[in-house]
Amino acid sequence: MLASDYYIKCAAEEHFCPHCNTKLSCCQCPPIHVGDGLGWGTEVFFICLNDECKLFVNGWKQCSEQYGHSASCRYALLPGEKDGITMMVGSREAFTGCEIDPDAIREKNARHQTEQEAVAKLDTCVAEKNLAPLLTLLLDESADREARNRAGDLLVALNDPACIDPLRNHAFRTTDLEQKVNMAITAILTANFSKECPKCTEIVKAQAKVCKHCGAEF
Ligand SMILES: [Zn+2]
Ligand SMILES: [Zn+2]
Repeated sequence: MLASDYYIKCAAEEHFCPHCNTKLSCCQCPPIHVGDGLGWGTEVFFICLNDECKLFVNGWKQCSEQYGHSASCRYALLPGEKDGITMMVGSREAFTGCEIDPDAIREKNARHQTEQEAVAKLDTCVAEKNLAPLLTLLLDESADREARNRAGDLLVALNDPACIDPLRNHAFRTTDLEQKVNMAITAILTANFSKECPKCTEIVKAQAKVCKHCGAEF
């Protein structure tokens, strides 16, 4: 099972805090070991994040009396376990940022899938005059960098002026890719006997003396 599928499955489970009856939040384990010798040995856990929970409310006093420092406890449960554990927390916010969001995971998976499909089409998109995979990769800043570079390299061979508008409107985070794209756009404009109006940026014929879109004279 994919880790993300496992997260989604766990997030759908319902467990309740025996101290306050609140539904436990499903969290991803932080990459550090917390507490005295508690290794995680699990990727997710369930925790009561209710600030009114008796265990949490009373925990501050107990921890300060027992250990002499500011901390409290939250009820937590490891996957597949029946009995929960008491987890020490140093602040009210501890663990509140690691709640698993199944929708965000699904969205990420869908994005990844689209990216993989686009990568698979890189070898054939020029022959098929299919611009879509190139745009999918070039316009996705989180897509694989090498795949985006390959997509940038294929722009000129594909020679489709329809790429110009979306690429011009995209804010590239890496300058080398942006330069590659800009050079490709220049080559595509030349190959199609056209240029961009410096005033309104619409594409006009290379020989045009007046922009047919905004009336600017060259
Ligand atoms: Zn509780
Ligand atoms: Zn113009």
